[in-house]
Amino acid sequence: MAKLTQADLVDLNKTFEERTPKELLAWASSVFGTRMAALSSMQRSGSIIAHMLSTMEENIKILFVDTGVLFQESLDTRDRVMKEYGVEIVTLTPEKTMEEQTAELGVLYITPEGQKQCCDLRKSDPLTAAKGDYDALIGSLRRCDGGKRAECPILAVDVEMNCIRINPLVNFDNDDFDQYVKEHDPIMNPLHSQGFTTIGCNRCTTPVLPNEPNRAGRWRHLGPWSIYCGINPTDLDSATSPHIDLPQELIDSILGRGPTDFMI
Ligand code: SF4
Repeated sequence: MAKLTQADLVDLNKTFEERTPKELLAWASSVFGTRMAALSSMQRSGSIIAHMLSTMEENIKILFVDTGVLFQESLDTRDRVMKEYGVEIVTLTPEKTMEEQTAELGVLYITPEGQKQCCDLRKSDPLTAAKGDYDALIGSLRRCDGGKRAECPILAVDVEMNCIRINPLVNFDNDDFDQYVKEHDPIMNPLHSQGFTTIGCNRCTTPVLPNEPNRAGRWRHLGPWSIYCGINPTDLDSATSPHIDLPQELIDSILGRGPTDFMI
């Protein structure tokens, strides 16, 4: 195994800024093959990714974390995507039901500290249980969503999962989004047309008013200090220079140094 740091990805990220999402997905598929999956919570950006994957020849799996307290509309959207797009969706679940967790630890999501513990137990831990199965995970973060997402790199090291995170939609703005929906009519979570700009667990998500920021509906009861769950590593503050460990040949391939260079 060899080390790969975020700094190693700087040049590659620069060259990828001009690439389209589909070109980035094609690159990722050529480098990581079946050791790659997409991560989706069946929100609108994830729906775009799911639609793009359904148009590719490669069968790239989608990982879906079911916290046990999701909206029925999100579960129905997952089922529609699976059935109508023919993509494989792997549902990851927490060790305990929300009832078991509450009986043991109380209602966690009503305090900032409890929210972090609850999100760790119900979102991050089920994903971390798949550590080692994938060298790359495709996300759907967009810079135009602002906040910590405003500086999100296309490629990021994910220390928790020891893999690369690929965000092909970072430069996909709202006009790009509207155009894609107009052209392809991808399957969308119906909650988006009911005032939900982003969608998570039913305990911690509300619709937003027209003049509120997109993420105002997440953890509204906790205030602005707790607006990310931590399942996306680029949302976390890190004072260190993180690295992941991957086979040297794979790192060479990612950085375009190997015999399998992929030219877009
Ligand atoms: S969003 Fe709320 S209910 Fe869902 S895992 Fe996080 S704290 Fe728990």
